[in-house]
Amino acid sequence: MSFEQLGLIDPILRALETQGYTTPTPIQAQAIPVVLAKKDLLACSQTGTGKTAAFAIPILQLLYNDQKPGPRRIKTLILTPTRELAIQISENFRDYGAHTGIKHAVIFGGVSAHSQINQLKQGIDILIATPGRLLDLWQQGHINLTGIQQFVLDEADRMLDMGFIHDVKRVIVKLPVVRQTLFFSATMPDEISHLANSILTNPTKVAV
Ligand code: AMP
Repeated sequence: MSFEQLGLIDPILRALETQGYTTPTPIQAQAIPVVLAKKDLLACSQTGTGKTAAFAIPILQLLYNDQKPGPRRIKTLILTPTRELAIQISENFRDYGAHTGIKHAVIFGGVSAHSQINQLKQGIDILIATPGRLLDLWQQGHINLTGIQQFVLDEADRMLDMGFIHDVKRVIVKLPVVRQTLFFSATMPDEISHLANSILTNPTKVAV
């Protein structure tokens, strides 16, 4: 299996070549076609399996193929539990999306919101966020979630462990009901599996 065989477009294939990626990892080979087909995904996978690229690559392709003139609005929301993960995810989008023209911003707590608000004002396609800061900036009127088409919940079990699950649920109720949802968790305790059942529609299940 190659990235070409997964049906990826040239701007993304070129970026993957620059990264030195030759072969999709198992989670990528399984998840990329599901995401490109705009289906919901329930993925049981650890960090280190290539799970970030498994959602970032096909999301970039969907957004690239759906570009329209006019002001940008947020079409993809990625929620992740920590600042470190948020930064890693944004670096991946920067690298894989280098030739796509798709724009993203990353927001997290513990630092001044000033430059994050400025990034949001410039117009972005993808927002990578930790839950608390997202709710803060949404409440202040800096974030419009009504155009979300894809929602990614990353490391759902860690959200629970870190006490963020209530904030995650408060974000989810603000999203459009008709959307694509991608749910990632290393483990599936009952509370996480209930959450997955309540927010996914007929998901394809992938475990690696
Ligand atoms: P992740 O599981 O998303 O944290 O990714 C783990 C590491 O694997 C990251 O450093 C990625 O840059 C790298 N990686 C992801 N996909 C591939 C691939 N197909 N080939 C080589 N390295 C990869």
